[in-house]
Amino acid sequence: MIWDEEFETMPREALRALQLKRLQKLVARVYEKVPYYRGKMDEAGINPEDIQRLDDLKFLPFTTKEDLRKNYPFGLFTVPMEEVVRVHASSGTTGQPTVVGYTKGDVKLWAGLMARSLSAAGAHSKDLIHNAYGYGLFTGGLGAHYGAEELGATVIPISGGQTKRQITIMRDFGSTVLLSTPSYALNLAGAMVDAGVDPADLSLKVGIFGAEPWSENMREELEKKLQLKAIDIYGLSEIIGPGVAIECIEEQKGLHIFEDHFLPEIVDENSFEPKAIGESGELVFTTLTKTAFPVIRYRTKDIAQLIDTPCSCGRTSVRMPKVTGRTDDMLIIRGVNVFPSQIEHVLMNVKGVEPHYQIIVDRHGSMDSMEVQVEVSESIFSDEIKSLENLSRQIQAEIKDLIGSSAKVTLVEPKTIKRSEGKAQRVIDKRNI
Ligand SMILES: [Zn+2]
Repeated sequence: MIWDEEFETMPREALRALQLKRLQKLVARVYEKVPYYRGKMDEAGINPEDIQRLDDLKFLPFTTKEDLRKNYPFGLFTVPMEEVVRVHASSGTTGQPTVVGYTKGDVKLWAGLMARSLSAAGAHSKDLIHNAYGYGLFTGGLGAHYGAEELGATVIPISGGQTKRQITIMRDFGSTVLLSTPSYALNLAGAMVDAGVDPADLSLKVGIFGAEPWSENMREELEKKLQLKAIDIYGLSEIIGPGVAIECIEEQKGLHIFEDHFLPEIVDENSFEPKAIGESGELVFTTLTKTAFPVIRYRTKDIAQLIDTPCSCGRTSVRMPKVTGRTDDMLIIRGVNVFPSQIEHVLMNVKGVEPHYQIIVDRHGSMDSMEVQVEVSESIFSDEIKSLENLSRQIQAEIKDLIGSSAKVTLVEPKTIKRSEGKAQRVIDKRNI
């Protein structure tokens, strides 16, 4: 079902006119309210009145995570703190956390966008939504929670962790929609097997998976193991949280971006020049309607592309195929760019291999080394050494074939790689330690 028919199916021309109007208002407001933005715009020699067409967006300076850190914690907010009703923050594992804020109106707007997202994924008011995203400073848990309530569904605010209990609740309550990271969903699938619970006996029909890039092969794996339709959802706290874009259940192909609220661009990762529809590059967003913490041309570091082919669901927005990686996840191994998602793609295509893996990068002298540790199924592991050797050679050859760099492949016993309870740690880079 389409939650917000008027805006989700708006003709492109009308949508562009709405975007321009909202953009002009936004630029004028941040110029007036935020000294930091005003300084950057003055430096770039651009005034709010210079934004006459949507294309003029390219003259505005980018906003980066670095800008957010420089203004830690509340320096980029456009309203006094008494109007801010909630803050969220990134985990800060890679430096100072970034903090985002919401007015009452922003929280309502976000709930509406999450209701739209859940609805696009096929959820409705009769559903029992099992929300296994972490609650807390992370936007996933509360973002999805408010959206599910806005939809009128029943939320089970289970959060992450306590995996055994999650399965008991899913079975006893009859959860129909699962929200989690894809890696945690796999963890749940494994725990179901251990508990002797057949996913076919549960009521799950849809899984909405986000907060990590995941591959098409991972989709097949999740759909098979959990007996549901796997839907990709996209969002990041700097933009609003989850609910920026989602796949529709009709096509499961490309995430519809809610363009009436988030203006997307693709720019070249090096020159930052705008790229055309269909070309791949760094995804950039301008928030058009958020009040407390709007961002202009925020560089997400996600690598994606935009497509504008019509969708059978009737939504008129551009879509983005699955994010293929992040510029900061990209590993440079002996001069070759490697994304964990590429390794995942290879592994998921190999029979007998489980979807649990870790990439360990190290340096000996001036030479980088990459080791891929991957779990194999019980039956393969108890097989002869020879077949294990063949399997590891096969994976090695396929990795070399796809990325042009060789990796050591280590097959490990089932259940030896640490299970994710939120975002999975796929890469251990020992080179900087
Ligand atoms: Zn669609």
